[in-house]
Amino acid sequence: MAVNDKELLDALLDNIPDSIYFKDLKSKFLRTSKELVKRLGLDNEKEVIGKTDFDFFTEEHASQAFKDEQEIIKTGKPIINIEEKETYKGKEDRWVLTTKMPLYNKEGKVVGTFGISRDITDKKKIEQQLVEEKIKAEELAKKAMEAGRLKSEFLANMSHEIRTPMNAILGFAEILKDQLADPQYIKYVDIILSSGKTLLDLINDILDISKIEAGKMELQYRAVKPQELFMDIAKIFSEKIQTKGLEFFTEIDEKLPKAILVDEVRLRQILFNLVGNAIKFTSKGYIELKVKGIYYPDRSKIDLIFSVKDTGIGIPEEDKKEIFNYFQQSRHIDVKKYGGTGLGLAITKKLVNLMNGEIEVDSTVGKGSTFKVILKNVAVSSIESTYSQEEIIKGRVRFKNQKILVTDDIESNRLLLNKILSVYNLRILEAVNGKEAITIAQRNKPDLILMDLRMPEMDGYTAIKILKSDENLNKIPIIVLTASAMKDDEAEVKKINCDGYIRKPVRRAELINELKKFLAYEEEAIPILSQSSKLIEKTGEQSYEKASTQLKNAIFSEQLLKQLREEILPSLTKAKKELIINDIEETASKIKSIGNQYNYPEILNWGDKLLKYCL
Ligand code: ADP
Repeated sequence: MAVNDKELLDALLDNIPDSIYFKDLKSKFLRTSKELVKRLGLDNEKEVIGKTDFDFFTEEHASQAFKDEQEIIKTGKPIINIEEKETYKGKEDRWVLTTKMPLYNKEGKVVGTFGISRDITDKKKIEQQLVEEKIKAEELAKKAMEAGRLKSEFLANMSHEIRTPMNAILGFAEILKDQLADPQYIKYVDIILSSGKTLLDLINDILDISKIEAGKMELQYRAVKPQELFMDIAKIFSEKIQTKGLEFFTEIDEKLPKAILVDEVRLRQILFNLVGNAIKFTSKGYIELKVKGIYYPDRSKIDLIFSVKDTGIGIPEEDKKEIFNYFQQSRHIDVKKYGGTGLGLAITKKLVNLMNGEIEVDSTVGKGSTFKVILKNVAVSSIESTYSQEEIIKGRVRFKNQKILVTDDIESNRLLLNKILSVYNLRILEAVNGKEAITIAQRNKPDLILMDLRMPEMDGYTAIKILKSDENLNKIPIIVLTASAMKDDEAEVKKINCDGYIRKPVRRAELINELKKFLAYEEEAIPILSQSSKLIEKTGEQSYEKASTQLKNAIFSEQLLKQLREEILPSLTKAKKELIINDIEETASKIKSIGNQYNYPEILNWGDKLLKYCL
C-alpha cells in the first residue's frame, strides 16, 4: 500500500527521538517533532505552532538562535553539527548537537528554516567529568612531583648540614689521634675515624641520590685521557686485590682515543663501585677490567664499553634487577659478613644513565659476575687534555710526611692551604689564632709553621715572638703569610723574627718553593705538565710565569667554585633569612678573603660592598 508524503513526514516527526522543527521567515514554529514538544515541557504540537524560541528559552539563547536563523535566511548558508547549549526558562540547561538549514519552496525561494537537534547532555556531562578528573589527576601528579622534589631537596640540605659537622668530627679526630700515645685511645679514635668515614660515605651517597632525583646532578664534561684513567683505577685497586690473594687482569684497548669528553669524577665513581664490589664479593680467583672503544665512522665519537668481571659469589637470577634499586641487596648474601647499604649500584646505574649509557649484569651463583657498562656517543676530544689534574695537583715534589701547622683564623684559608699541601705528602695541623698555634706547637712539634698575622685573641706578631723565645720551639721554621688587602706595613713585617714570608694570595709554586727551603723532599719522576709545556712552547720562556699562573687559576677556579658553593652560599642564604648583622659581616669577610686568596677583584669588591652595607 502506498504511503503518501504527509504520512511519511508525520511518521518522522512523531517517532524520531530528536527535535525537529520548521520555522517561517520570522522564526515562528510551523511544525515540530513530538520530541521537541516534550522537551519544551508541553503535550501538544499545537501549543508550539506560531510561537518562537523567545516563548520557551531564555532571552540569551533565543536571541542567538534567532540571529543564526536570520543569517541562514539571508545567506542561504546552513549551520551543520554544532554543539549548542540550550538554556530554558525555569528548566535545567541541555546540550544539543544541531544542524540548521534554509527552507526553500518549490520556486527556490527561502521561506524559513528547519533543523534537527540531538540531545547530547549526558555525553557532555561525561566529557566534563573527564576533563575535571584529568585536571585533578594533573594537579595530584604535580603535587606528588613537588613533594618528591621537596623531599629530595630536604635530603640534599640535610646531607649537606650533616656533612659540615662530620668534616669537623673527622678532622679533629685526626688531630686528636696525632696527639695520643696510648694505643688503646688511638684504637678508639681509629674507630671514630672509620665509622665517621662510613657515615660520610653514606651521606655522600644519599646526597648523590637526592641530587639525581631532584634532577640537579649536572655532569661536568671535560677532556680526559681514557687510557690513563683506566690505568689509574687499575693501579689504585691492584694492591687491594693482591692483598686479598686474587689475580688482577686488565685489558685496555690500545686504540682508545687520546682524550674523550666525560665527567671524570663520576666515571671514576662508577668504576670504584663496580671494582669495589667485585673485590668485596670475591674470595678466590680473579678480577678483570676490560675497556674497549668502538669508533663512529667519522671518528668524532665512540661507544665506550667497559666491564668488570669477578669469580665471586655471583647473583641469583631473581635478584639481578633488584640490586639496581635503592637499598636493595641480594637476599642470598650474608649482610653481616659483607656489610654495605645497597646504594652503590643504584647510584651507578643512575650515573650511567645520565651519561647516556646502560649497565647490565651477567652472573652465575658460585661462579662470578660481570658488570658491563656501555657509554654511547662519547665525544672524542680534539685536544689531548685541558689539563691533567693528576699532574698539576700532585706536582713533582714529594715531602716526607712532615707536619705543617697552618695558623689562620679564616676557615676557608686553612682549608685551601690544607688542600694544596696535603697532596704533597704533608700532614696538616690547623690553628685558628696565635694562642692555639703555640699550644699545638708545644704538643705536636710541627716541622714548619705557616702563620697568618691578623687574628683574634692572639695575633701572629705576638705568637711568633713567644715561639721564637721558647728554646724548645725556636728551631721550627715559621713562614709568615701576609694579606695584601690588609696593607700590612712591609717594613713592620720584615722586622718580625721569622724565616720567610709569602704574600697572599698564596701561589702554590711559591709556597712549595718556600717549603723546600726548610723541609726534606724528593723530586718525583712525574712528567712536567703536558699542557704547561705546551703553553711554554707557545709563549716562550719569559712567559712561563704567565702560563703557569693561567694554569693555576684554572685549577683554583674549580676550588673557588666549590668554596663559593659550599661555604658562601649556605651562609648567605642563612644571613638573608635571619638578617643578623654579625652573620652578614662574617659572610662578607669570608667572601673578601676568598677574593683575596684567588686574586679575583670581582669577588673582593662583592665582599667589600656587602661589608659597607653592614656599617
Ligand atoms: P652494597 O654493596 O653496599 O650492598 P650495591 O648497590 O653496590 O650495595 O650492591 C647491591 C647488592 O648487589 C650487593 O649487596 C650484592 O648483593 C650484589 N652485588 C653487587 N656486586 C656484586 C658482585 N660483584 N658479586 C656479587 N654480588 C654483587
